[in-house]
Amino acid sequence: MLKKTVIVRPELCVGCMQCMIRCAEAHSQTKALASAIREDILAKPRIHIGVGPEKKPFPNKCRHCEPAPCQEACMPAAIRSDVAEGLKIVDPARCISCGMCAMACPYYVIRFYRDKDAPGHPSVAVKCDGCFERVAAGDVPACVAACKTGALTFEDVNLYLKEGTNRLAHAAYGVRS
Ligand code: SF4
Ligand code: SF4
Repeated sequence: MLKKTVIVRPELCVGCMQCMIRCAEAHSQTKALASAIREDILAKPRIHIGVGPEKKPFPNKCRHCEPAPCQEACMPAAIRSDVAEGLKIVDPARCISCGMCAMACPYYVIRFYRDKDAPGHPSVAVKCDGCFERVAAGDVPACVAACKTGALTFEDVNLYLKEGTNRLAHAAYGVRS
């Protein structure tokens, strides 16, 4: 499991889709929105806002599972593990667009688009790569940088879960009192 990852709090999401826009920008060739929208291969977002009951937005992205069903289903071994960072990353040059990864993923987070790193392919599997280049440079993932409501944060997994345990404890004692 990732030590530090993107934590999603859907109850704070307002559906502004800034995370999707900034994700696509971060994965473009020029990494600047004004020029990215004019690139010959348009970068696409790797986070998606689903619509739930009463049209409530739900940010959905790759969980970087271990083991990962997408990786196990991929015959040409186009999905590699970045063990140090706990990420599952698609190599577009190896992807044959068979769709097996998308069918195996329980979270429906893989899409198929043209990709700047495989320009000869009509479509390849595209999904979250943890913004590994940004994180290595000391930044947070682009979706987190874009989200102004706190629906997406980049946190230590175990600290987040510890806080959750404390919230549960407060709620439990609150009910009894
Ligand atoms: S940026 Fe934050 S609030 Fe906006 S859609 Fe994405 S997750 Fe929701
Ligand atoms: S694409 Fe789906 S199956 Fe693969 S690591 Fe991400 S969430 Fe897990």
